[in-house]
Amino acid sequence: MSTDPIRSLLDTVLDGLTLPYDAPDYDRRILDRVALARTVARAALDEDPADLGWNVDYLRQKLAAEQTAADARERNRCRRCRTRFALDDTRFDGHARYRDTPWCRRCVDNCHEGSPEHVCPICDPARYGGEPR
Ligand SMILES: [Zn+2]
Ligand SMILES: [Zn+2]
Repeated sequence: MSTDPIRSLLDTVLDGLTLPYDAPDYDRRILDRVALARTVARAALDEDPADLGWNVDYLRQKLAAEQTAADARERNRCRRCRTRFALDDTRFDGHARYRDTPWCRRCVDNCHEGSPEHVCPICDPARYGGEPR
């Protein structure tokens, strides 16, 4: 990382505005990140350049927190239908997590009713790049 505070800030803003295009929730996340970057850039304009370190640290922390929250959301929803797991919806076709899988009970139930030719990551993980993580 650059020691020039303005370059550091630009680096961090760029990091903030960069997400893989295939990231889940890309649209929503990029909007959140734009808002963060804008807030910090605006505050930085009022700052003495020598004091920009604080703005850089603040933005880095916010971006890290945003990433952590995004990871947590991903872990807490069905990888197939994207619905959040509802812990108490334990009907056979409910939205609770099915055992230790990344899928909800409803998706697993639908799959098991599929025709014999049916294949998908739920029914046949090996075919889709091995065990689910
Ligand atoms: Zn599902
Ligand atoms: Zn299936």
